[in-house]
Amino acid sequence: MSKYSCSECSASNIKLWRESHSIPILKCAKCLGEDNIDEDGKVQSKLFNFKTDQIGSHVPAVPYKDDPEAFYAYTAVPDDSVKWWISLPSKSEEFNWSILSLINKHEAITSK
Ligand SMILES: [Zn+2]
Repeated sequence: MSKYSCSECSASNIKLWRESHSIPILKCAKCLGEDNIDEDGKVQSKLFNFKTDQIGSHVPAVPYKDDPEAFYAYTAVPDDSVKWWISLPSKSEEFNWSILSLINKHEAITSK
């Protein structure tokens, strides 16, 4: 699963999407320009009054268990793989915040 990372920002251990009809190029919500993603990986549809896990023409990238470079068709993802994908964080900001707090702690210590 080491290749499961964003093609633009290299973020890993987060939800990734792929274009539905092309060679899979994985992208995270941030690089797709989507900030209003909820923890289940869903966004409010801009056209209709419902939430969707598709971002524009991108669908959730859920790799086969025995082949991390192949992805289930959008409507054919097994339940346990759906659960795996939903269990991933939707954004990597938590990680960035923890790095920031470490830097702040470091500065607080070294400025004494
Ligand atoms: Zn990214």
